[in-house]
Amino acid sequence: MASRTPASESLPATPQQEVAAIAELRAVHSAFLYLHNQEHEFRRWQMELAEVAAPPFGEQARSEWLRKRFTALGLHHVHVDELGNVFGFIHEDRQLPLTGVSAHIDTVFPRGTKLHSYEEGNKLFGPGISDNAAGVVAMLAIVSALKQAQIQPEGNIVFIGNVGEEGEGNLRGMRHIFADPAWSETIRSLLVIDGAGVDTYVNRALGSKRFEVTFRGPGGHSWSDFGIANPIVLLARALAEFSETPIPDNPRTTFNIGVIQGGTSVNSIPESASARVDLRSASTDELKKLEDRLRQAISSVHKEVSSPGNGQKVSFAIESIGDRPAAELAPNARIVQVIRAVDAHLRIRSIPRLASTDANIPLAFGKEAITIGSGGDGGGAHTLREWFDCSNRDLGLKRILLALLALTGVHE
Ligand SMILES: [Zn+2]
Repeated sequence: MASRTPASESLPATPQQEVAAIAELRAVHSAFLYLHNQEHEFRRWQMELAEVAAPPFGEQARSEWLRKRFTALGLHHVHVDELGNVFGFIHEDRQLPLTGVSAHIDTVFPRGTKLHSYEEGNKLFGPGISDNAAGVVAMLAIVSALKQAQIQPEGNIVFIGNVGEEGEGNLRGMRHIFADPAWSETIRSLLVIDGAGVDTYVNRALGSKRFEVTFRGPGGHSWSDFGIANPIVLLARALAEFSETPIPDNPRTTFNIGVIQGGTSVNSIPESASARVDLRSASTDELKKLEDRLRQAISSVHKEVSSPGNGQKVSFAIESIGDRPAAELAPNARIVQVIRAVDAHLRIRSIPRLASTDANIPLAFGKEAITIGSGGDGGGAHTLREWFDCSNRDLGLKRILLALLALTGVHE
């Protein structure tokens, strides 16, 4: 299994043979040792990073923090694009085939959130400490291990700290990168690092669409204007009707009404009412059906109250506030074979998963992309009590390193 040469010259090595051969290299051994020994340094980086605010659409301070780190670690062509995405290359030669490694730098926490990180035993606490300070630190750990151990990847690697993954960021960082042919035509595959753990790999992109739906009317006094259309009532009726939509188990499809707003006081007929709705599905078709049902429910309620008999002056609006494409890797995709081979080699029992991550974008562009965790364990994501357990983090880091080197190839 650990043989470096294939059984026959004419037979290419299997992914598992390739991974085993890479893991045997002296430089890779020394990188593994480094990743194990530097754990305390990684914790320092992680707590420091988690205390740099990165609210959606306000990631500048974190971009700058990462730009400095990339530069200090000796990456080439380090730069920040107009959105705040940070890039750095392992080799100076930009003509080499390119593999990407990314970790999102944004958090869900709004500006002004108190960001305090602390350590208790092997556990780190703090908002964003796992999602995705752990991912960014894993990326930095890989860069420094490559440098320390003087590993020479055959292809080039671009490390990317991207903005806009969470919530209303709507994958804007990754979207911006792949909208640029300079990236979409050169990055062959992308390894996305997000959160903790080693037990899964995301090979299917969960599609989602988000809408803000609003009803508007003239509004008025609850007593003297009684009888004019009430946008809150209309909204409630439309949402109640929509929520009766039958949903298939397979492909898994869900919806949620997460925010509702409207009205000014108890004795006023409101002028507007709105709700935010999240639709998700593994299937583009089901997602489209669900969207149609939502639009139908809204417009039928509107039609009824504004019919000539009723004659109410009401309007509605359906605004898209999020759109993530559904996509799937081919079962024989090289990147899936690589991660399976790495997991077999490291004796990790992982399962494929369906999720909405930065990988949705390259997948929708027909690229190979996979999302994996950074090792350790984590919980309480998107809460102020978020935690990351550093125990065995190096297993996750070895996993990333081996997968990356199998994708790029490595000089002995
Ligand atoms: Zn995340």
